[in-house]
Amino acid sequence: MRKWEKNIRTVEPYVPGEQPQNTDVIKLNTNENPYPPAPEVVRASAEMNTDRLRLYPDPAASVLIDALAALHGVKSTQIFPGVGSDDVLSMIFLTFFNSDSPILFPDITYSFYSVWADVYRIPYETPALDGNFMINAEDYYKDNGGVVIANPNAPTSIYREPEFIRDILDHNRESIVVVDEAYIDFAGRSALELLDDYDNLIVVRTFSKSRSMAGLRIGYAIAGERIIKALNDVKYSVNSYTLNMPSIELGTAAAKNNDYYSRITQKIIATRERTVKELSKLGFECLPSGANFVFAKHTSMAGEVIFKELKEAGIFVRHFNAPRINDYLRISVGTDEQMDRLFDFLRKYA
Ligand code: PMP
Repeated sequence: MRKWEKNIRTVEPYVPGEQPQNTDVIKLNTNENPYPPAPEVVRASAEMNTDRLRLYPDPAASVLIDALAALHGVKSTQIFPGVGSDDVLSMIFLTFFNSDSPILFPDITYSFYSVWADVYRIPYETPALDGNFMINAEDYYKDNGGVVIANPNAPTSIYREPEFIRDILDHNRESIVVVDEAYIDFAGRSALELLDDYDNLIVVRTFSKSRSMAGLRIGYAIAGERIIKALNDVKYSVNSYTLNMPSIELGTAAAKNNDYYSRITQKIIATRERTVKELSKLGFECLPSGANFVFAKHTSMAGEVIFKELKEAGIFVRHFNAPRINDYLRISVGTDEQMDRLFDFLRKYA
């Protein structure tokens, strides 16, 4: 082996859900929003001054940060934006997880966490979810180099109230506790209400799900000012211009038009509830969902078989070939028409 080969920073990469180029498929595999962005976003896009593409974007994304601060009732100095929440989470891992003690996150959760830990050489432990796929708070009472909790969790879809997060925070005064709220708008109360009580809490959000903007790549962290400063110091040491100009402008329009997004979120929640009922009639069990997807298992058929047959029929869902969850399908909530097509296909297994 050549010397440079020995020095390669090897890592087993994260595998994103498939993005088929064939637009005919019913795409229920990456938890995207089935509805378009707000009309104001569409207008801002049509009116965008493309001459400004010559220039670098505002490295601080100030107009977006100000709109996000107004949306969440926090100061602009409490927001750190990034290229999707993946970028924000990656920066958090790089900035804060530098301890010899392992960071902690559940064994079944967003599978990118272990990949970032691997690529940055961060030790980690993964306490097991219980038999009902619930996180056991006591597993996070021990010494650690940081804690990461997705709430609602993915791919289980299970949501826990802020009291549960508070319990973890109370036992982790000396650690950074990250709450990844990618799906919170489909669930309930946010851990944001705990921000004033805990200067070690970081809440991470995304515009990819409830804001219908996965294609623009906008995510952000909300935390105390010291945490945001530390993140910015690392960000400006890696890449100053993370968000591009269209993302800043269109993201700002999205942040300012909350009513539209609340309406489509309610619609998705209603379709989710109908999906759970229909799937149970078709022989599936779903975990209680607080997300824009359901995690469903057929009572007799193997998950992988259904996954493959659905794919052949042009209906894409997600299947994880991992212990304890390989009989489950993660099904994003689409429009009612898309879900009806799914139910029609699944009737053959009922
Ligand atoms: N966190 C969780 C729990 C997710 O499921 C996802 C979506 N794959 C992300 C973060 C990343 O989303 P994005 O980078 O699009 O903001």
